Amino acid sequence: MELKGKRVLVVGMGKSGLAAARFLRARGAIVTVSDARPSTLLSGPIAELLAMGAAVETGGHGLLTFRRQDLIVVSPGVPMDTPELKQVRALGVEMIGEVELASRFLNGSVVAITGSNGKTTTTSLIGEILRGAGVPTLVGGNIGLPVVEMVAESTDTTWSVLEISSFQLETVETFAPKIAVVLNITPDHLDRHGTFEKYAEAKTRITEMQTPADFLVLNAEDKPTQMVAAKTKAQIFWFSPRRPIKQGAFVHGDSILFLPREGGKAEPVMPVSEIPLVGAHNVENVLAAVCACRLAGVSSEKIREGVRGFKAVDHRLQFVAEVAGVKYYNDSKATNVDATAKALASFEGNVLLILGGKDKGSDYTELNDLLRERVVTVYTIGSAAEKIETQLAGVMTLKHAETLERAVALATEDAKAGDTVLLAPACASFDQFESYEHRGREFVRFVTEIKR
Ligand code: ADP
Repeated sequence: MELKGKRVLVVGMGKSGLAAARFLRARGAIVTVSDARPSTLLSGPIAELLAMGAAVETGGHGLLTFRRQDLIVVSPGVPMDTPELKQVRALGVEMIGEVELASRFLNGSVVAITGSNGKTTTTSLIGEILRGAGVPTLVGGNIGLPVVEMVAESTDTTWSVLEISSFQLETVETFAPKIAVVLNITPDHLDRHGTFEKYAEAKTRITEMQTPADFLVLNAEDKPTQMVAAKTKAQIFWFSPRRPIKQGAFVHGDSILFLPREGGKAEPVMPVSEIPLVGAHNVENVLAAVCACRLAGVSSEKIREGVRGFKAVDHRLQFVAEVAGVKYYNDSKATNVDATAKALASFEGNVLLILGGKDKGSDYTELNDLLRERVVTVYTIGSAAEKIETQLAGVMTLKHAETLERAVALATEDAKAGDTVLLAPACASFDQFESYEHRGREFVRFVTEIKR
């Protein structure tokens, strides 16, 4: 793909938009970057863009700006169904995302990981295993480095391990990873994708351009991923924590086994008890990583070493501290009901749970059974508090805490030795925090302050 002299519009001045602009300018494209936010919020990015010789448009997107382009690169934060983008698409201008752009230039092989939950954990785990096995590895995408920033470092022998969100998948066209992993598909981001079917459809795009020489790793216990299986031309490897499967990774007793082909001999990889992460969902993440890494040519021994040395990523069921016999866990990344369910399932009982934030159209009653079984009290915070209280009324003891700081204080007052205080809020963070990381760091700070 030749970019020199091409007129390219980048929509969105976030991290991936800026990285795309840099990438395009370095290859001689004539770049304009447009963002709907007012210029007062964007002084940093604007200065950088002007310095690299890009044109800038803020406070809205003019149709004229869009019409003049040879190519449009849309950031994952920008919904594809805005009136402007719909009109532009109708004009026939090519519209792609940053992942698609980068994948046209990336050297070597790609493992791409998507799913509703577990992407970051699994992506980091696969990256660590490959690195530990001496494979030249780059990790990025929806975490860390934007994919365009990985291009310069990639060589023919590189494995790029990419976390890919469903938003990023909306704008791929030719993207064909050597190994694609779909961890699970549960209702999340319905506010943006509309229906569950549309959301699931976005996930299937990860495999649409794969060939029979490629691999697709799927969760055998997750019904909606069957939709993905129906669409693929790649060789499917399944994983299951419950039962033996025809081809892929599974748990038998305390052992993780890998079956390289139907009717073949299962190879032992490692005991489940050696996984250094809390929760049954992490067994699933490890199984997915076992498949991906075996398919990338890593030995079972090296995989076992890599998993044993892996530490939980911050804000994902991260152990914070034990104060007066009470354990505190930060799962700020549990931004949907399913992730919260997984977090609750990781503890035996006596959990004091902090729930709430910005609602995503979720149904909190899905938690009812787990709440009754394992939770002592729910502390509600943020703008979703009222909805949660209405839906969970009568299910269990609820305390309206309003803020995270007060929730930590109330839970600390109520907790007895042996209890667990868990932040697994089932909501986005943007009503009270800049991000889930910010929310998690604040939680850690409040917990650290109790200690003194
Ligand atoms: P993602 O990048 O997809 O958001 P993370 O690895 O950051 O995934 O984990 C997000 C949340 O989901 C955390 O709260 C974590 O405990 C939970 N989680 C991790 N893996 C899984 C899984 N396989 N299924 C369900 N929930 C999971």
